[in-house]
Amino acid sequence: MARDVDPVRFRSIADTYKWASLFLERVATCFGQDWLTQRLARWSWNLSTCFTGVGCAEQAAISLQNAAAKYAPGCGVAIKSAIEIDKACQDVLLSTYGPEHPGQCIFEDITKIDLVHQRTCYCQRHHKMCELQPQSGEGNMAEWLQGPVCIDYSMMGKRQGQHGKYHQTHVSYFSNMKASKNSILLIENVTEYEEALVKKELGPAWTLVSTRMDPRCLGLPCSRARVFIVGWKVQEIRWTAPFALSSFVGALCSKVVMNAGDYYWMKSLPQTMLTPSAADNLEAYKKMYPKFKYPDLTQSCKNGRARGETKDGCLPTLTTHTGQLYSQEMKRYLHPHEALSSHCLPVTAKQAKISSSPKLELEDACKTAQIRFAGNAMSVPCVGAVLLCCALALQKV
Ligand SMILES: [Zn+2]
Repeated sequence: MARDVDPVRFRSIADTYKWASLFLERVATCFGQDWLTQRLARWSWNLSTCFTGVGCAEQAAISLQNAAAKYAPGCGVAIKSAIEIDKACQDVLLSTYGPEHPGQCIFEDITKIDLVHQRTCYCQRHHKMCELQPQSGEGNMAEWLQGPVCIDYSMMGKRQGQHGKYHQTHVSYFSNMKASKNSILLIENVTEYEEALVKKELGPAWTLVSTRMDPRCLGLPCSRARVFIVGWKVQEIRWTAPFALSSFVGALCSKVVMNAGDYYWMKSLPQTMLTPSAADNLEAYKKMYPKFKYPDLTQSCKNGRARGETKDGCLPTLTTHTGQLYSQEMKRYLHPHEALSSHCLPVTAKQAKISSSPKLELEDACKTAQIRFAGNAMSVPCVGAVLLCCALALQKV
């Protein structure tokens, strides 16, 4: 694909929700609309997800599908099921994706699923035993997209790798993948996670490719470096596009012109009443780290754990504890809805309309849960870029 960087793409946070149609326009420019239309017309997936939290993969798929309808009506995905153990996430999945996708089953615990011996499992949406394997229609491919538990591999976690307590989840996940009818696999994880580990688990029946991506590459003013691994069954699927995953992603690059401050878009919020210790921490930040305009007050700067916006002024990578990113200009913390918007997850009706995907139903989730959602989320445009590449490149043998 063309190597020149796309002109500036996003000038406001509302703009960032247009990612799907802008990516498609870019592909049409690089390859011609006929090629794009022809490829999209063959895109027909059954999508099952695993550990995608409040539905980051679902959001990416729905946005892309709706944007792609302009070129090839009726193409895209049928969302079949989600595996998610977090109860608060389940509530969001149930209320957000229910009306448009009444077929999305919700299964709870991957360590209790055994596809070799089991055909059904208790479903949280339909309150009965539902089929675990989506029944592929003619020409359809069953898909599975996920962000496996990353704590054992991340810098922030204890880096216990296969000795960590989440390892059983990995073992269950891959043994189920091998037994499943799914022929394509997409994985997102922290950059320390290695393709070699997936290769070892899946064996020679699968081909893998991977790429690293950060939302900043796509023009978003937030940091979240991740590795994306795509796998497919050698006997069923071929990579037929004239580009590699990494060069496709490279062609979607765009310059960042916004900064962390743009994420404080809820203009009518009151200033935060800081606790005495937070106020003390803020004063210490001002003296010791005056460069931070958006210090993270959950981190004590006196203990040398100062954290704030990135060197290029972007929002730092959100974690499940990043609840107190303080704007010195607005004199308040980043709101959980603003944190979620850094992943292009729609939290307002307007954002949902621009992205053509459902607004997250968050009414039942407390603030702590919402921060956890944001800390665990995948960047929807990053997922979307990989998904689009696969939709265009992968075809049945
Ligand atoms: Zn069900």
